[in-house]
Amino acid sequence: MDEACMYDVVIVGAGPAGSTLARMVDKKYKVLIVDKRPFDISDMDEKCCGGLLAPDAQKMLAELGLGVPKSVLSGPQMFSVKTLDFDNDLVRYYQRFYINVNRNLFDKWLFDLIPDHVDKKINCCYKGYTIQEGTYKVTLKVREYDKNSSRMAMSDDNLVVRTKILIGADGGNSAIRHQAFIGRPQPDTYLSIQKWYKTPRTMPFYTSIFDSSITDFYSWLIQKDQQLLIGTTIQKGKNPNTQYNRLIDRLVKEGYEIGEPVKQMGTVILRTRKTKQIQLTKDGIGLIGEAAGLISPSSAEGISYAIKSAVYMADAINQKSVTFQKKYTKACIGIKRNIWFKNIKTMVIYNRFFRKLVMLSKILALKGNHHHSEK
Ligand SMILES: Cc1cc2nc3c(=O)[nH]c(=O)nc-3n(C[C@H](O)[C@H](O)[C@H](O)COP(=O)(O)OP(=O)(O)OC[C@H]3O[C@@H](n4cnc5c(N)ncnc54)[C@H](O)[C@@H]3O)c2cc1C
Repeated sequence: MDEACMYDVVIVGAGPAGSTLARMVDKKYKVLIVDKRPFDISDMDEKCCGGLLAPDAQKMLAELGLGVPKSVLSGPQMFSVKTLDFDNDLVRYYQRFYINVNRNLFDKWLFDLIPDHVDKKINCCYKGYTIQEGTYKVTLKVREYDKNSSRMAMSDDNLVVRTKILIGADGGNSAIRHQAFIGRPQPDTYLSIQKWYKTPRTMPFYTSIFDSSITDFYSWLIQKDQQLLIGTTIQKGKNPNTQYNRLIDRLVKEGYEIGEPVKQMGTVILRTRKTKQIQLTKDGIGLIGEAAGLISPSSAEGISYAIKSAVYMADAINQKSVTFQKKYTKACIGIKRNIWFKNIKTMVIYNRFFRKLVMLSKILALKGNHHHSEK
């Protein structure tokens, strides 16, 4: 056996799923968490996300005894969603209870809660694994400051560690899922684009947009302090940039004043349409959070699933690490059922005719004088 450092658990990815698991795995285990991000606020690779904590995510944080610090919040806090249905030419407002956060600071807050007995490697990219003598040999690459280009660059050398349990908490585009679960059903893959625009105005609601000429999923507008975030998520086979521009054109036509973006980013987002697309364990490998396909196919809400699955994984490993697979899979039955139910909801929300009926009925819609000066 080579001299590579031996761990009980290696967690790849320090998003909400990975950081929660690292925090909760028992002290008796030797744990390493790695993330390619630097986790400093200055120039962090930001997770492309709307940064809204839905009631389910709030509930998970409450169950863990956590309250979101003020420093993590973005403004304004919004109490409604404006639903713009361009297919049916309808607008409705509904009461919603989101918490608007700065997603970078939220992730950093959860990362900083990981106790000192856990080894942490940031700026560290997972490259792959091999199985050797019943353990996983994990290859990592560290990003270092390159004096010549004055940028962070991947070092030439590999860093190798060994582990009994390898956890993929590496998000929608999980390299571990791609390697270990090859040949198994995978969630549908979409591409998300988000751009930030300066705005002098206040938009006191979250806006969701249904327009089947843009996407069979949805688009959104969320204010983040002095900036307006406009995003959409596009199914495979369509050009995401063309579809995004189509969204902007449509919004401008509706009277929105949209200037040049100050920041933009894109990422893979999973849409789990069938529960068999959810992949949880294979031998000593476990997936948590979006890496496992745990994300709402109706709203793209994923933070609650990330935290919940991490809690279940921690329970399973803490109870009996060698048979964590069985316990974790059993614990996730409720999550799978929930995603199945969200798919039923999807059939209604994303059906133009049913959505029209719901919106025309004004069931649960807010009364009041919503004016359009916020555009
Ligand atoms: C555009 C968009 C908007 C969204 N809006 C919301 C929202 O408003 N509310 C909500 O609840 N959910 C939202 N979601 C979903 C939510 O962001 C995810 O479901 C959630 O972040 C999943 O958490 P996670 O910890 O599983 O993965 P992630 O948060 O994706 O974290 C994965 C981590 O793994 C790291 N990583 C990945 N690959 C490697 C590698 N090879 N080596 C090392 N590290 C690696 C990444 O740097 C990252 O830190 C949105 C998603 C998208 C794409």
